[in-house]
Amino acid sequence: MQKLVIYNTLRRKKEEFAPINPPHVGMYVCGPTVYGEAHLGHARPSVTFDVLFRYLQHIGYKVRYVRNITDVGHLENDADTGEDKIAKKARLEQLEPMEIVQLYTLNYHDCMKALNVLPPSIEPRASGHIIEQQEYVQRILDSGFAYESQGSVYFDVEKYNKQHNYGILSGRNIDDMLSNTRSLDGQDEKRAPLDFALWKKAKPEHIMQWNSVWSKGFPGWHLECSAMGEKYLGKEFDIHGGGMDLMFPHHECEIAQSTAANGKSAVRYWIHNNMITINGQKMGKSLGNFITLQELFSGSHKILEQAYTPMTIRFFILQAHYRSTLDFSNEALQAAQKGMERLLQGYQTIQKLPVSVQSTVQVNELSTKCYDAISDDLNTPILISHLFVALKDIQAIAAGAATITQADKDVLEKLYRVFLFDILGLQSQADQQSNNSELLHTAIEMLLQARLDAKKNKDFAKSDEIRNTLTNLGVVIKDTKDGYEWSLA
Ligand code: ZN
Repeated sequence: MQKLVIYNTLRRKKEEFAPINPPHVGMYVCGPTVYGEAHLGHARPSVTFDVLFRYLQHIGYKVRYVRNITDVGHLENDADTGEDKIAKKARLEQLEPMEIVQLYTLNYHDCMKALNVLPPSIEPRASGHIIEQQEYVQRILDSGFAYESQGSVYFDVEKYNKQHNYGILSGRNIDDMLSNTRSLDGQDEKRAPLDFALWKKAKPEHIMQWNSVWSKGFPGWHLECSAMGEKYLGKEFDIHGGGMDLMFPHHECEIAQSTAANGKSAVRYWIHNNMITINGQKMGKSLGNFITLQELFSGSHKILEQAYTPMTIRFFILQAHYRSTLDFSNEALQAAQKGMERLLQGYQTIQKLPVSVQSTVQVNELSTKCYDAISDDLNTPILISHLFVALKDIQAIAAGAATITQADKDVLEKLYRVFLFDILGLQSQADQQSNNSELLHTAIEMLLQARLDAKKNKDFAKSDEIRNTLTNLGVVIKDTKDGYEWSLA
């Protein structure tokens, strides 16, 4: 099996990847908290771990990839206070929390599909695993690293740190953390400021709450990933990933929880992607540079000069190493778009190259270089640069200044296809167009079905409105005795 070296955030060094039970690999990645539309910040972890997922499978592993949906317990300030993000949105929009969850889960899925991110093997929701989380809390209580206080349960960080290392992942020191934390005001349920909630007693007006032996309440945010990771991947598994912003407190707390519950940390390789900035600034609603993925795809945001295809976004992300910061700007995206088009064009050119009895180009060397790059901590920018260098050979052969044999041409064609499409996950222009037309077809069918239903219900105003709208958009509709036929004008 092709060797893979990966940077383990836990030990702060590159390590050769060796799964617990080869060829099986268990991989858990923290998914979105679904209280708003998917944005640029969601694109980077999903594309990064998609490439890892694709590459592990390419080199022969059988990967069980779990990426959760957070639909309860993530409070506004990522800690133990503030309103639940989903519940707040539901209150503001006057919707059920599960309507918010459904709406934004579908939006997230649409965006992931557009970015050609493969779906995970399992996509569990926190609210669907309340029993597992309660059972996990009980184990931490039994091990003595948690305490109950007024119906809530907190993790005892100082007690834990006497036997283990709270801060092992983020490199933080507990004394420094304490000096940076406000002291408790005496009203607090917690014994110490660093303690974090495993279970929170809900106020009566809190929308999402469940019965438990401690109180009617809801689980702490960090708990869901420990509980669902264990349920689907076991007490010890290979890879846990996410954005660098999740390292502390979220992942640090996950390590503490699993060590307290099971006596050992659950995860072998911690992998974190770096963050995205926009024109050099952190993305944030208050800065006016918060961009959703749909806005990027349609160009409808004041800082965008044009629309960018999902593949341009994907290629742009892959042009930087996942552990480097990545700055979005119109110029950089336009350059990425041109670069990607040149590579896709190069792939088209390969297929039309004339063959000769001799090769003056080195295709096997290129293959080694590409595998070396991707196997070295997923170095996609180096991999892409090798594909760019090879473009010169391809152009030289096309122009008659170099030659290639049929066998070498086959190798080159396969190499480009495997790296561009299977591993980097790009789509050819034809595939991108067929995705669009598939979408269009589904949308028209849905509208015509709705028109048929309206006619059955004698809602002729509605059925006429749908017909007129579609006709104006160039859809030719012919009513038949069984329903309808349609075509594009
Ligand atoms: Zn998580």
